[in-house]
Amino acid sequence: MFDTAIAGSLPKPAWLAETQKLWPQWKAEGAELAQAKLDATLLWIKAQEDAGLSVIGDGEQSRQHFVHGFLEQVEGIDFEHKVEMGIRNDRYKAMVPQVIAALKLKGRVHAAEARFLRAHTTRKIKFTLPGPLTIVDTVADRFYGDRRKLAMAFAELLNEEALALQADGVDIVQFDEPAFNVYMDDAATWGVKALERAAQGLKCTTAVHICYGYGIQANIDWKNSLGQEWRQYEKVFPALAKSSIQQVSLECFHSHVPPDLMALLKGKDVMVGVIDVASDSIETPEEVADTIGRALQFVPRQHLIACTNCGLAPMSRAVAEAKLRALAAGAKLADARQAAK
Ligand code: ZN
Repeated sequence: MFDTAIAGSLPKPAWLAETQKLWPQWKAEGAELAQAKLDATLLWIKAQEDAGLSVIGDGEQSRQHFVHGFLEQVEGIDFEHKVEMGIRNDRYKAMVPQVIAALKLKGRVHAAEARFLRAHTTRKIKFTLPGPLTIVDTVADRFYGDRRKLAMAFAELLNEEALALQADGVDIVQFDEPAFNVYMDDAATWGVKALERAAQGLKCTTAVHICYGYGIQANIDWKNSLGQEWRQYEKVFPALAKSSIQQVSLECFHSHVPPDLMALLKGKDVMVGVIDVASDSIETPEEVADTIGRALQFVPRQHLIACTNCGLAPMSRAVAEAKLRALAAGAKLADARQAAK
């Protein structure tokens, strides 16, 4: 069977946080919030297992946002005085915290949810962290004065947490680098190096998720401006192919990424995006199996992992659950088609 996995995030239940928002406000605080986060994690572990996925994640229920969840545990960052900043090359504005001193981890970042995830499923588990380049693009720097230096500083902290996650029993540590598709030259020159620093010494599987973002309007508008062929991956894939990172994702279904770019990832496991996160319509198993079939022209069967294009965080719970089922059903159908060949 093909492995099946989500990119990372899943919607938060309405009792945990505001729904259908990228930076939702929590509905509780203190010990009550800590418990609510784990309750929501349990719910999504069960939903992923019931859908039939082979790789299970925590759905990022314990972090407000995929980058800021990590930053909250970093010393040297001022969360009290957020500033508005254009991010992803000014694609949209966000309120971001500021780097005001040398960076250091305050302690463990994701121990509670990683151990909880390990305790509640016997399947393979994947845990996501933001990648160094994407963090640099989601924070205001008032201290380092150099994006590359700042990225390496974050990479060291990420490495500390990644090694601890491995010790918690995580099978796959994934770094999320949507900014790789925005700053292609930086990604190919020093972004991949920073990523390798973040993954240094890991014996578990390492992965990088690169995408065209969540299904929010600013991203949809951006994608509409990219023309008929999206070749952003072309710059960074050769650098990743030479790197120590073992799994690489790309968007496929409903994207304009030429499928032959997958051939640049020879030797890597490829997480093929077979589920669109910018549309509420639910993929049929046939559509998912067809996307997998196209990818098999460029990726050997044993290296193909069926995945979502990006996280499902801003969607409704019902849609996300249906998409998880479509992912698993489509992978099963693709498997049956292969067996019949
Ligand atoms: Zn993504």
